[in-house]
Amino acid sequence: MKSSVGYLIDRFLKLKEERSAYVIAHYYQRPEVQDVADFVGDSYSMALAARETPCETILVAGVDFMAETAVILCPEKTVLTPEPDATCPMANDITARDILKYRERYPDSIVVCYVNTPAEVKAVSDVCCTSSNAAKIIEKMPPEARIFFVPDHHLGHNIGHRLNRSIDLYRSCCPTHEEVRTGGLLELKQRYPAAKILVHPECRPEVVDVADFAGSTRAIIEYAEASEADSFIIGTECGILHPLQKANPRKEFILATKDLICPNMKSITLEKMIYSLEHMETRVMVEESVRLKARIALERMIEYAT
Ligand code: SF4
Repeated sequence: MKSSVGYLIDRFLKLKEERSAYVIAHYYQRPEVQDVADFVGDSYSMALAARETPCETILVAGVDFMAETAVILCPEKTVLTPEPDATCPMANDITARDILKYRERYPDSIVVCYVNTPAEVKAVSDVCCTSSNAAKIIEKMPPEARIFFVPDHHLGHNIGHRLNRSIDLYRSCCPTHEEVRTGGLLELKQRYPAAKILVHPECRPEVVDVADFAGSTRAIIEYAEASEADSFIIGTECGILHPLQKANPRKEFILATKDLICPNMKSITLEKMIYSLEHMETRVMVEESVRLKARIALERMIEYAT
C-alpha cells in the first residue's frame, strides 16, 4: 500500500503537470519537497533557473525573498509561494531606510546586498550577491571604493577577511547558522578525526577559521563529491544532508549541531504545495517601480558573477 507521502507526491506531480508549473526548491527544503522539484539549488542557481524556464507558472519552495527574486527577474510569469509566511528573519532585519541613511553619510560608497533581503532593499543597493559569488563580486569593485555589505555581518566579515579588504558591515546574521559553535565542532572532530569540517560562510568567523572548507551550499556539495574523505561534519542547514547523501551514498555526513534547522524553510510542505497549485495561490507581487530598480542590482550580480 502506498504511504501518505507517496500519495501526496503522486497528487502533486499530477497537478504540476496539469498546471505546466516549474518547481524550484532550495537545498534547505524537506527531502520530499526537493524530490518533487524540477530544480533544486542555492539562491543563485534558483534565480538563474527562474530566468531560464519557459514555463509560465513557477512555484518557489523557499522563503519569501527567493520568490520575490523570481518575480523581479521574470515579471511576465506567475510566481507562487506555497507558504507566504515563510520568511527570513535576517532579511527582515534591514530596511531601505537603513541603506539610505548610510548613503547620506558616505555618498560615494558601493552598497552590496546579500540576496537575503526584501525587494525594497535591493532597489536601493548597487549590486546583489549570494554566498556563492559574493567574493567574486566584491573583488570586481575598485580597490579604493568604500563598500557597505548588508545585512549578514558574518558573511561580510568572512569575505573581507578572505580578500584582505575592509568592508563596512550591517549588523545582522542568520539565527540558524549562529547555532554552529567551535566547541561543538571540535568535540565532533575528536570523535571523527578523519572527518572534514565543511561550513557555510554565514557561520561565525571563528567557526569558519576551524573549518576545512567554507562555501555556499552548492560549493559544499561539490567539495564533498570531489573529496577523497569518507566523512564530513556539516555546518549548514540540515536540508543539505538529503542531496549530500543522495550523491554520496557511501560517505558519512554528521550535522554540526541538531539545531541547524531553519523553521521558515521547513514550513513548506507537500500539502501546502498541492493547495498552492490547486488554487494558484499565493501569487507573489513586487511593486513595479521597486521591481525595476531591484532588477538592476540582480542583473549586475549575474553579469559580475558570470
Ligand atoms: S537559513 Fe538563515 S538565512 Fe536562510 S532563510 Fe533561514 S534564517 Fe534566513
